Amino acid sequence: MAASQEINALRRLQREDRRLVSIEHRLEEIPRRVREMDADLQKLQQMLDGERAKLEESASFKAEQRHLLLEEEEHIKNAKVRMNSLKTPRELNAVTREIEGTRRMIQSRTQEIARISEAVSEAEARIESMTTSLGQFREEASKEQTRLESERAELTSKLEAAQSRRQEFKDKIETELLRTYERIRKRNGGLGFVAAHRRHCLACEMQVPHQLYVVLRRGDEIVDCDGCGRLLYWSGHFPKERDRLDAKDEQSEVKRRTAT
Ligand SMILES: [Zn+2]
Repeated sequence: MAASQEINALRRLQREDRRLVSIEHRLEEIPRRVREMDADLQKLQQMLDGERAKLEESASFKAEQRHLLLEEEEHIKNAKVRMNSLKTPRELNAVTREIEGTRRMIQSRTQEIARISEAVSEAEARIESMTTSLGQFREEASKEQTRLESERAELTSKLEAAQSRRQEFKDKIETELLRTYERIRKRNGGLGFVAAHRRHCLACEMQVPHQLYVVLRRGDEIVDCDGCGRLLYWSGHFPKERDRLDAKDEQSEVKRRTAT
């Protein structure tokens, strides 16, 4: 035999339990969100580091090419000096060919250096814009982190409040009933005590047999639903809830009618 006080306490306990589950879910989301942000930041940082390494490579290649260019220019200068002391046309010919060959090398190296210079300035621009984006992203992430931190604090205090209310309601329920409720709740997606409204279980929508409905209306016994096994109470014992459910029914009835 369950007194109406017990029905009341069990119903409120069920509410707190649902609240707790939802708070716990939201709390679990927070570290996940932080991990995601960290991973994104790390990815961007890696991309930037990669660009910087490539830039360094190009810059050192460019320096090397410049050095070779200077050597080739020096080589031509020396060859021209040598020309003055040459004795035979054959020797003159050989040095002239040498100079021409070096000039061709200088020409293609100059083009190569121009090409690298362009690539280097493009990479520099890219790095600059990536650095700016990363900075902005870091700033946003830090703001989000602060926001999440305060959300976490808020949820934790809500959780504690719900837990203490939960204990209060638990104390009003007989141990065996409480155990049954917990068992059913855990097995049925967090819902162990549900309203029967207009002769139907609100969880599984099965119609409650007449005899059972009579017992429910009397409100001195807690029975379980034939359909889903959850414990039931009559919505009529809680006029506010009954009116809300009626209004909801009416709305869906109107929707159904307007749809057809
Ligand atoms: Zn049911």
